[in-house]
Amino acid sequence: MLKTHYLKVNPIHPESNLITEGAGVIKKGGLVAFPTETVYGLGADGLDPDAVLKIFQVKGRPQGNPLILHVFSLDQARELVSSWPPAADVLARRFLPGPLTLILPRSRRIPELVTAGLPTVALRYPSNRIALALIEASGVPLAAPSANISGRPSPTLPQHVLADLDGKIDMILDGGPAEVGVESTILSLAEKRPLLLRP
Ligand code: AMP
Ligand code: MG
Repeated sequence: MLKTHYLKVNPIHPESNLITEGAGVIKKGGLVAFPTETVYGLGADGLDPDAVLKIFQVKGRPQGNPLILHVFSLDQARELVSSWPPAADVLARRFLPGPLTLILPRSRRIPELVTAGLPTVALRYPSNRIALALIEASGVPLAAPSANISGRPSPTLPQHVLADLDGKIDMILDGGPAEVGVESTILSLAEKRPLLLRP
């Protein structure tokens, strides 16, 4: 049983000392639950296979189910792909930051565990300020599925995260309710034609 540190963070002006604490946990390979505009995510260093493995273990998530990498800028997103098609720029201008995940050909820097061995990676650039601040301060993309035990509803409140994961993860950043309440749209740009994988 871990002690799960619970920090209440201002969702409009996230306190930099609290964000630094969260980023410190990520840098040590720990797990931090944080708000996004869709649902609460369970974040780990997306370039550290040991940290990513903990996400699967804590959630009871099958390793065949790939994770989304969360970035704080389009520049960071470009570093994680082997090609960036013009369509990604068009979509980014219209929808990002926001609840749209793009599937693109992956860079070799990304651990196999993140992509479940696929040649592609799922990238998301969220608009939630706590999420953005945490990703930027961590200095790495965050692998982050929803912060619940697999098979249970996705958490839209920090209390939901506590109910599932208290004592199992290092930290929860409480930023109040997630506004949207459903998972991001997933669109693949890895094929000849764009393919909607999740509405
Ligand atoms: P979630 O379980 O909400 O974190 O959503 C992650 C979902 O993104 C997975 O269940 C997959 O359906 C999808 N996904 C992640 N990576 C990829 C990928 N490389 N190609 C296709 N779908 C992916
Ligand atoms: Mg989920």
